[in-house]
Amino acid sequence: MGTIEDDFPEKDARAEHPSDAQSAPVRPRQALPPKGSCWYCEKPLDSVKRFCGKPCADAFDEEAEYTR
Ligand SMILES: [Zn+2]
Repeated sequence: MGTIEDDFPEKDARAEHPSDAQSAPVRPRQALPPKGSCWYCEKPLDSVKRFCGKPCADAFDEEAEYTR
């Protein structure tokens, strides 16, 4: 009883939870060039920024997922 989970290989479980967040997959937004304004809400920004804040960046990524 209750020993079914023992059949799961422990290595695979760990691979799904990488401890290093920097090795996360590249987001769609990271392929964009900075254009001087927010890609999501068009708010004027520094020429090196793509988004005015994380909420906009996250929202943009979400839309990119849906339009894939
Ligand atoms: Zn924005």
